[in-house]
Parts: sequence; structure tokens; C-alpha cells
Amino acid sequence: MGLDLQAIRASVPALAQQIHGKPLVYLDNGATALKPQPVIDALLGYYAGYSANVHRGVHTLSVRATEALEAARRDVAAHLCVQDDCEIIFTRGTTESINLVAQTWARRTLVAGDEIVVSAMEHHSNIVPWQLVAAETGAVVRVLPMDDRGVLDLTAAAEIIGDKTRLLAVVAVSNALGTVNPVRKLAAMARAVGAKVLVDGAQAVPHGAVDVHAYDADFFAFSGHKTYGPTGIGVLWGRREALEACGTWHGGGDMIRSVSFEGTTFAELPARLEAGTPHIAGAIGLGAALRWMQSLDLDAIAAHEADLLAYGHALLREIPGLRPIGEAPQKAGVMSFVVDGVHPNDVGTLLDGYGIAVRTGHHCAEPAMRRLGISGTIRASLAVYNTTEDLDRLAEALRRALRLLGA
Ligand code: PMP
Repeated sequence: MGLDLQAIRASVPALAQQIHGKPLVYLDNGATALKPQPVIDALLGYYAGYSANVHRGVHTLSVRATEALEAARRDVAAHLCVQDDCEIIFTRGTTESINLVAQTWARRTLVAGDEIVVSAMEHHSNIVPWQLVAAETGAVVRVLPMDDRGVLDLTAAAEIIGDKTRLLAVVAVSNALGTVNPVRKLAAMARAVGAKVLVDGAQAVPHGAVDVHAYDADFFAFSGHKTYGPTGIGVLWGRREALEACGTWHGGGDMIRSVSFEGTTFAELPARLEAGTPHIAGAIGLGAALRWMQSLDLDAIAAHEADLLAYGHALLREIPGLRPIGEAPQKAGVMSFVVDGVHPNDVGTLLDGYGIAVRTGHHCAEPAMRRLGISGTIRASLAVYNTTEDLDRLAEALRRALRLLGA
């Protein structure tokens, strides 16, 4: 099925604006995606119509809010090909999801000498939580190396993932380089030594269909706001037995069965890991975002973005002075590049003057930048509403910017 790009663009109101007198070209989707009208409507619908608190309410609005929240949980479960919606934990985003596993599972399970394996291209949110746990437990963080194209070295991985490995925490799609990692192969290595597997899916879910079981992972994290949904909402999926092995983290309302000063008992999943009033509107908005993606057809989204990526790469290769960063054969959503001798921010600022939004800098992946010998990149990242015209505008603006910068 093809995509009706005009209709898709018309349903994303933020696209229809001028920036510095030029029509907006939004290519900062890796940071966050613009929101389609059904998501905005879902948020408005909750706030304007039934913004009551959830669970335990006996009045009609509370029941409606609870039903909408739990329907959103089922939407997320369906989107990730998960049968048991109790395995879906709402969090603030990928960062909180990873920290939840770090604090409730790793911190109480790992001992000195245990190893946590991450890759060289992780986002800081899949590095720092493990460093914090390592500092407390004596565990060690080890790193899967990558080559100059941004491809993980599987031979090295087979040596690093070993008897001491307790956890493999790896990104499915790199936000800085666009690399699609062979997560299933890595997960098989981790499983063979009895380690748990966590997948950072922040840049995977926005770009097409995801089946968490296909990764053979124990935990999978993603953020609502990169997936056309609201900010402040995200998801941790875990296999039931993996989530059962997680202790409690935040204590408070909703996560208990009964509280007394003699002792407190805890609720079943998912409530046990969702203390306090959740981001009700956010979850409802995320459900709407995922349904919007599905209504477009997930495979068609992936195919469209793959075409855009190929088109964009070809255009950028023709621009003298640009050097692509991240040339893995399997990529999704991201075109990163540098102009030698020019600071990425200078290029980004000039592009903004032409109405083009890109991100510049280290993209919260400083170790990856260091490995490639650069301080940062200019990153154009794609969403379903982008077009070849957007990429033509980017290429044209880049040529002008580079002339102005004398590069
Ligand atoms: N992992 C990856 C791969 C990301 O791209 C991001 C966001 N840039 C994160 C984790 C963190 O997501 P959030 O800030 O929404 O928690």
C-alpha cells in the first residue's frame, strides 16, 4: 500500500508553518516527532472531557479515564506484538524505562565482577544508568566495539559476551548513526550465557513494525514523543518473569495492595511498577499515535523512509565537503554528516535560516563520537511525513551554507 503523503502532511498541523519566512522542513525527528491531529485530539478529549484520576474511582469520569488508560496499554501491547498487556509498564520515556530496570533488577541482582555489556554507539541513557549501578555493586560495564562505518563487531562481541555477562543492553537503531543493529544475533550470544537482554527501541518504534519477541529480549524501552505521541510518556516492556524479578522502585499510591505501619504488600504488575498518578493524557495520546501509525500501515512507513534515506544519501554524497558519518549497510531514519573544519552548530544555524530543522552536536552519544574522532555531527532524521522535496531543500540549503562558510 502506498502512502498518501499529502493527507499525512495535512494531518500534522505543525508542518504548515513558516520559519524565517520559509516553509518548515522538519528533519529533527530523531529528537522528537511532530504530532498528528488525532494525538492532539486525544489529549484535548481527555483534558476537556474526562480529566479524572484513574483506578479506584466509582464515578463515571474516573471509569472513563481508567478505561481509556487501559485501552492505551492494550494499544501499546498490540503495537509491540505482546499478548499480555500486564507486561506494558508506562514510564516517562526510554530513559526512565532503562533506569527502572537498572534500579529494580540490576542493582539488586548484580555483584562485584558481574558484567554489563553495552555497545559503542549507545545513547547516554543506556550507558549512565549502568555506570551508576556498576559503581554501587562492583559490576563492570564492557563495550562492544564498532568499526568506522558504525557497524558492531560480532567477532569481538562473541569474545566479550561470556560467563561473567549478566546483562546485554543494546540499542536497536542508533540515534547518532542510524545503524540497525543485529540485536537478535547479539541476544542469542547473551542467552547462551544466561544473561538478560535489554533493547533500547527509542529509534526503532517510530520507523515501522516492531515485534519485541523477534529480538528475543527480556526488556524493551521506547519513548512516546519520538513515536508521534506526547512528551513525558514512554514504555518499558518486559517478559512477565523478567518483570517479576524486578523489585519495587518508587513507592506510593497505586503500587500497593495494602499499607499498614506493620508492613505493606504490593500490587500485581503492571501497577507495582507504576507508583502515583500516571501520565493519563500522555498514555491516551500515545495510544492514539500508535493507532495513527497503524492506520498508515507500518510496512509502508518503513518502505517510504527507506526510499527517503537512499534518496537523501545520494543527494548528500554529491555535495563537495560533506563527509557522511554512519555508513552501515543496514540503516534507518538517520543521515549524519560533518563538514571538516566547520562546527556542526554553524551549519545547523544557517540551515535554520532556510527553515530547515536539523540537530547538531554529539546526540547524547559522546562515546560514539569519540570513537569516530569527531566532536559531533549534523543530523537529518526522518519521519513518515518527510518528502523528497524536503531533502532537495536540505541539499540546496547545505550548498548555500557551505558557500557562506567558505567550506
Ligand atoms: N535512546 C535513544 C536511541 C534515543 O535516541 C533517545 C532520545 N534521543 C533516548 C534513548 C532517550 O530517550 P528519552 O529522552 O525520550 O528518554
